[in-house]
Amino acid sequence: MSETWPLGAVPADELRVIRFKPAFHRCDPDPAKDYGIGTVTMLWVLRVGDLAVVWEVFTGWDLPTDAFKAAVPGCIHPLHQNGAPGPREASGGAVQWHTPGPQYEGHEGSQEPCSITGGTCYVSSGFLLASELLDLLRIEGDDAVWKRLRELLDEVKVLPEPGSPEAKLADAAAELEASINDRNDRWEPVRQAITGDWVDDMRQIVERRLGVEAGSMAVIGDPAYSAVLDADHQLEVARDAIAAARARVEAG
Ligand SMILES: [Zn+2]
Ligand SMILES: [Zn+2]
Repeated sequence: MSETWPLGAVPADELRVIRFKPAFHRCDPDPAKDYGIGTVTMLWVLRVGDLAVVWEVFTGWDLPTDAFKAAVPGCIHPLHQNGAPGPREASGGAVQWHTPGPQYEGHEGSQEPCSITGGTCYVSSGFLLASELLDLLRIEGDDAVWKRLRELLDEVKVLPEPGSPEAKLADAAAELEASINDRNDRWEPVRQAITGDWVDDMRQIVERRLGVEAGSMAVIGDPAYSAVLDADHQLEVARDAIAAARARVEAG
């Protein structure tokens, strides 16, 4: 019986890397320096452009006995005298999202360039998916895990970096929207007054007396309504200008 294990086709935009951090034994009598012991950590790194998602697995693989003893020759921990204590189970660790901009309002970025994406980095992490991913790995294997990580990466929301052209445009757009809403609130009574029954009455009168089809309210010539239409037009122009500026920024 033989089983083939074909290498799956990796989507062209993805960088997939699995790395292992070694196990350790770093007991220290000074509690401030006592890092205890740890098993090999397996890191799944999926990078797409300047976004990345990282998932940790604590494998349960301890240091070999000789290396364990040699790491801290004088260790007095009662469970460490014959090497690492007992076999340990693998467990899923945190999922981390790395993005070039904040993922939520007030998100602080790292000062150092990111070791994974290479640039300014905003990191968030959570443990909620740890066991789901480990189950997926054990039941379906690596392809299923990479697909799930890709979904998690595609779901991440990135806000523009504060002070960037994108952020300034977003602020301008928000200000414009606020002024539109404010203006709409103030104009609403006027709008209601001239677009309700009154317009139907006027249309009927115009059509009956002049014998023309007065489908457009602008034809009726009410100055207030013309002002509303004109203001709407000006706002459309402003909206278009912001959209065009945003497109230029996004195009680089
Ligand atoms: Zn120890
Ligand atoms: Zn990072």
